[in-house]
Amino acid sequence: MSMVAQAREMADELVRFRRDLHREPELGLVLPRTQERVLAALEGLPLEISTGTSCTSVTAVLRGRGDGVVLLRADMDALPVQEDTGLDFTSRIDGTMHGCGHDLHTAMLVGAARLLADQRDKLGGDVVFMFQPGEEGWEGARTMIDEGVLDAAGRRPDAAYALHVFSTLGPAGTFFSRPGVTLAASATLRVTVRGAGGHGSTPHLAKDPVPVLAEMVTALQTAVTRRFDVFDPVVLTVGVLRAGTRSNVIPATAAFEATIRTFSRESSRRVRDVVLRLVSGIADAHGVDVDADYAEGRPPTVNDADETALVREVIAETFGERRYAPLAQPFTGAEDFARVLEEVPGCIVALGALPQGADPDKAAFNHSPQAVFDDSVLPDGAALFAELAIRRLHDTTQKGR
Ligand SMILES: [Zn+2]
Repeated sequence: MSMVAQAREMADELVRFRRDLHREPELGLVLPRTQERVLAALEGLPLEISTGTSCTSVTAVLRGRGDGVVLLRADMDALPVQEDTGLDFTSRIDGTMHGCGHDLHTAMLVGAARLLADQRDKLGGDVVFMFQPGEEGWEGARTMIDEGVLDAAGRRPDAAYALHVFSTLGPAGTFFSRPGVTLAASATLRVTVRGAGGHGSTPHLAKDPVPVLAEMVTALQTAVTRRFDVFDPVVLTVGVLRAGTRSNVIPATAAFEATIRTFSRESSRRVRDVVLRLVSGIADAHGVDVDADYAEGRPPTVNDADETALVREVIAETFGERRYAPLAQPFTGAEDFARVLEEVPGCIVALGALPQGADPDKAAFNHSPQAVFDDSVLPDGAALFAELAIRRLHDTTQKGR
């Protein structure tokens, strides 16, 4: 029986597993119920299992015959979002939702572990299953790397792969990828302007931080369009703006926070200098003080060209050419699988999970309270993970790649 046929035989089980996770989503680095469920689902398989010490990660190693090592990764955490999908397996946890489909990723990786355990004798090496908490801004990948996931098999992986579902990418079951930068780098800028408070009727006796802050917000947008190549774009969004309590009181301080997305290591580095110089220059010009904190978030997620070519080939062989579509451009979201891809060549693949009959232009995107993912894609996702591991390990052994 083909891998896909075997995977489809477990469809009901994978859907049930995913929906159990969906009902009970957990946030951040500590996901005890999720970890329990993953461990239970892996029970009885010939795996070497270890769990995280500072997070509830699960690392499982399947030993094959050969020198290759492939890492497969699924993130497992949910979002602080109040679910509003009306699904019959809707979240039971107030204010918490699997709104980014990480429940599907976890189920697909469990499926892959089962499929590959059956093929163990034919594997040209070891497979590391990386079940990661804390993807949504908690540095879960970094934590697992610090705790040794990349050395779990005793050798560094030759390649690493991840899948990410999208609620608006259709048709369901189509795989999308691209070589090079695939998701953005993220950073956060936090600025507080310190002036001197006073009466709104006598601004000359105070040092009003509000117009200074407003000027900064506008100047940042100008800097983004004037200082950076339009083909290596920067996205800067001020999402927080805070100042004042009453219309006739000049506040002593005013503050904003911005998220910044970039698509190359070079512009990630440069944008920091540009924005910090800009806010301190504007503060200086107006005779007020400024505290500016620039926190690097995740680096860009960069797919290796050879690994992406292999992914495309494996998808075409397993599911047919029509199930692969090249991504025209990167996603502006960030993804902490980037941390793995900084160390190991690999590829993240997007998987369309637009529900049957839904309009891709109207469907709610990942992170929305209304985001719905079609879980009929689960067996094919599991099969792709498994086929990639088999193929890559075979190539490593054959070609000493
Ligand atoms: Zn996600």
